[in-house]
Amino acid sequence: MKFVDAHIHLSDPEYNQNIGKIVEDAKRSNVVALVSNSMNLQTSLLSLQLAEEYPGLVYVALGVHPWNVKSLSPNETQDVISQIFQQKEKLVAVGEIGLDFRYARSGELRDLQLQVFHEMLRTAEKISLPVIIHSRETAPEIMSLLSSYGLEKVLFHWFSSKFIGLLPQIVDRGYYITEGPPTIYSNGIREIVRHIPLANLLTETDGPVRFGGPFKGEMTKPSFIPLVVKAIAQIKDMKETEVADQILKNFANFFGVKSVSDKRHEETTIGV
Ligand SMILES: [Zn+2]
Repeated sequence: MKFVDAHIHLSDPEYNQNIGKIVEDAKRSNVVALVSNSMNLQTSLLSLQLAEEYPGLVYVALGVHPWNVKSLSPNETQDVISQIFQQKEKLVAVGEIGLDFRYARSGELRDLQLQVFHEMLRTAEKISLPVIIHSRETAPEIMSLLSSYGLEKVLFHWFSSKFIGLLPQIVDRGYYITEGPPTIYSNGIREIVRHIPLANLLTETDGPVRFGGPFKGEMTKPSFIPLVVKAIAQIKDMKETEVADQILKNFANFFGVKSVSDKRHEETTIGV
């Protein structure tokens, strides 16, 4: 079985000293692709470097996270956008972008998040890249503003059970969601996994975010992904191999990275 981590922050300072360990952990646990999401300009540049260092394993998404809008330098959003245009061949998505009203109580901060989010969506639309969206407490607003964009590939990461009622619309538009370690221990997330068709689901760690349940106190690592797949298989009453294969296909379709679902190597190994 092969696995994918469609949303991780490899450029986060917490992983700085541990990149080698994380990459080794991914290889050992058959996690064949890691999508490194950025938060601002600095993490964008570092993510690009990591993709160069680990080709065929680390893929890059560049963007400005809603948490970072208040600490941006004057030209930072434009600098990230310039990087997106310049490096577009090397990118698999624009992300992590979105809205988070829990971290923006004031109207001013919300307006700033909206402004940056719109700029990122416009950029993704211009160069036809998928988007990876953070939607804490904001999924309904985001769904309605996406209607004015021609974006086909949209991924809601860590989609929350609060807005489970939006799932039919998400599926109808052909959007995807990612879920991670809480699939193992959170009833709300398990409910989402139960309701989303497997064809619209991807797996993530969102590392270095830390988790509860069986992961309490542990550094978040790619090797959590096989456990997430196992939990999805239990919830959906399917075989783990079927779930893993479908998620690999979803990854290839969503990000346009065909090599991850390439079966040639496996077939030769089985043939021998
Ligand atoms: Zn994230």
